[in-house]
Amino acid sequence: MTRNHKQPEVNIGLVGHVDHGKTTLVQALSGSWTDQHSEEMKRGISIRLGYADATFRECPGMEDPERYTVEEECPDGEESEPLRTVSFVDAPGHETLMATMLAGAAIMDGAVLVVSATEDVPQAQTEEHLMALDIIGIDNIVVAQNKIDLVDRDRAVDHYEQIQEFIEGTVAEGSPIIPVSAQQNVNMDLLIQSIEEEIPTPERNSDRASRMFAARSFDINRPGATHEDLVGGVVGGSLVHGTLSVGDELELRPGRQVEEGGQTEWRSLETTVRSLQAGGSPVEEASPGGLLGVGTGLDPSLTKGDALAGQVAGEPGTLPPTRESFEMEVELLDRVVGDGDGDGNVEEISTGEPLMLTVGTATTVGAVTSARDGECEVNLKRPVCAEAGAKIAINRRVGARWRLIGVGTLE
Ligand code: GDP
Ligand code: MG
Repeated sequence: MTRNHKQPEVNIGLVGHVDHGKTTLVQALSGSWTDQHSEEMKRGISIRLGYADATFRECPGMEDPERYTVEEECPDGEESEPLRTVSFVDAPGHETLMATMLAGAAIMDGAVLVVSATEDVPQAQTEEHLMALDIIGIDNIVVAQNKIDLVDRDRAVDHYEQIQEFIEGTVAEGSPIIPVSAQQNVNMDLLIQSIEEEIPTPERNSDRASRMFAARSFDINRPGATHEDLVGGVVGGSLVHGTLSVGDELELRPGRQVEEGGQTEWRSLETTVRSLQAGGSPVEEASPGGLLGVGTGLDPSLTKGDALAGQVAGEPGTLPPTRESFEMEVELLDRVVGDGDGDGNVEEISTGEPLMLTVGTATTVGAVTSARDGECEVNLKRPVCAEAGAKIAINRRVGARWRLIGVGTLE
């Protein structure tokens, strides 16, 4: 439990089309590590967050790229040295889960775009996820050309060129493309080296007030737990700045909806930090970056089933305002991406139309109350806690699903 536990310091997203091997790659890189999670957090987090930590290590006596590993023992029998611990955010690749992917992207510092060599490039969500990274401003990207064990050399080379051509002119232009087999553990060392080089740990300010984006929330009590045994609600997410310590006061916004005298309003929640989990171990203090589990004093019924996902948590009195409506500057995409048949030009936003908006880790539906050139005002179904300048992924209903159409900047 205690050996070499460095807290995770960077969040790396796994993005790409369904079945291209994102989850397998996370497993290949974090495999032995997940066994060390406490049983509770494992039950809580590994089930739905698509969350895992891995410590990248190096073998001092070896050459590049063989020196990079996640194993404690090097091929030459020496012990490896830890470089840094990373948290993986495993995005779902299915087209109907774009909202989850976009919310996850809000806490990614960089991403590995997984592209299967068995299919032509780009598949729908290969393109749509890459566009989402672009919109949210994630430009530290490594491309993993996966499943190379299933194709012959000519096909691998041809497919590699397809990727090269595809990423030209996108946010991933110039990113390394690493042929791998996640399942057969081929080229994992080179992939780790590329991640080390391309996705540095961002500078973060620990001196500022704590600010965390909640991506998940849980009730970790077993059904039928008695009142005395009940543990408070757990919130999972990432600290963007500041530190959190056990005993700290915590405010969550927007909080919850309360009814009083026939009026409903959103009121922030206040609680204390009762426990912290980082890198699979309990810690007394958590620093920014990586994924955290925060045990709170909240009634677990409030945190059950991701009920608090999308909220912002931090030192009371320091959080951005809760907004039930806002104005944003809008930049539309040239065309709708990510679906062979529906691709087309993006029409202007019109008054009255519903939009799905991702703001930080929050997803909400808003009705457009006014739309002008490059600007629009929306009324939200569920409020969001967000700062002026926040980036907003804008989705419009096209056919049966929400499609990414542009990016907004909160005014
Ligand atoms: P995801 O939807 O992107 O998370 O894809 P998964 O990781 O669930 O993988 C989808 C399927 O592809 C699974 O059956 C994996 O075992 C398989 N797979 C993933 N990576 C590889 C690989 O490198 N080689 C082979 N042969 N199969 C792979
Ligand atoms: Mg998966």
